[in-house]
Amino acid sequence: MRTILNDQMNQKRKSVEGIRHAPERTCIGCRTPRQGRELLRLACTPQGEIFIDSFGRGTGRGAYVCFDAACIRQALHPSKLKAAFKQSVTVPSERSVYESAIRALRMRLGSYLSMAQKAGVAISGAVPLQRALAQRRIAYLVLAEDIAEARAQEYYTWCEQQDVPRLTLFSKADLGRLLGKSSRSAVGLTQMRFGEQLQMTAERLNLLCASIGSPESS
Ligand SMILES: [Zn+2]
Repeated sequence: MRTILNDQMNQKRKSVEGIRHAPERTCIGCRTPRQGRELLRLACTPQGEIFIDSFGRGTGRGAYVCFDAACIRQALHPSKLKAAFKQSVTVPSERSVYESAIRALRMRLGSYLSMAQKAGVAISGAVPLQRALAQRRIAYLVLAEDIAEARAQEYYTWCEQQDVPRLTLFSKADLGRLLGKSSRSAVGLTQMRFGEQLQMTAERLNLLCASIGSPESS
């Protein structure tokens, strides 16, 4: 039963992530092939400095690794990096790669929100958002980490009543900034595809943070 459920989830995941033609890449840590955007992309300067390609869109040679502490640890073996980049490299510290990976995922989360805003599918501001919720137009809800407790409870109730999935992410100030607006406690998305991208990226961030054993706020 569990396998069937997982297969269905993987199917769903593939259909969501396969919208754009995405080639498979292999984690240099565990050797598992995955879709490129499911992996962290490492790049290398001509001087052999390894850096994180936050959006995975850089040109030139890249090495891919799962968003997982054990894979990152294995990938940072000098011989693996040297083989991947075909040059001698300066191996970065595990800690700096973990921190860059967390930053990269948070940047992706932010970019999905900005894209949703540009696409005209993000609704924020208490009055427009509550109106859209009342009209059942909201497919996914993002709540700020520092939202007032009473306000959060109101949104939890909306979500439960309408079966709307939600995510708690970013400060009110950051949510507003990403939308090009003043501080925002909550953002509703009228299209689920942005919500699905946010959800998957947030899951990766949680898995990474859990595998590192450190709070996400590091
Ligand atoms: Zn891996």
